[in-house]
Amino acid sequence: MSEKECWFCGSQQWVEMHHIFGASKRKQSDKYNLVVPLCHYHHNEPPDGVHHNQENNLILKRWAQEQFEETHTRQEFREVFGKNYLEDDDE
Ligand SMILES: [Zn+2]
Ligand SMILES: [Zn+2]
Repeated sequence: MSEKECWFCGSQQWVEMHHIFGASKRKQSDKYNLVVPLCHYHHNEPPDGVHHNQENNLILKRWAQEQFEETHTRQEFREVFGKNYLEDDDE
């Protein structure tokens, strides 16, 4: 993936960096490099932007967990990010 192409659509226009796990997990997103380029429309604009669209948000979080689990265990993911996005058995 190029540094500056939208993760969803590949656009190189108006690209912004998005912390996949924000708020209190923002630093962990940085630490584990779970920060992706998104065009403004897939980032912060309804209806498709991940800050508005739960479905797209979850697609990205699941992808991020898969990336993390290439080098870490699921247990570690849960310890760092407090949740498991790849299975529903944990509600
Ligand atoms: Zn896009
Ligand atoms: Zn963002």
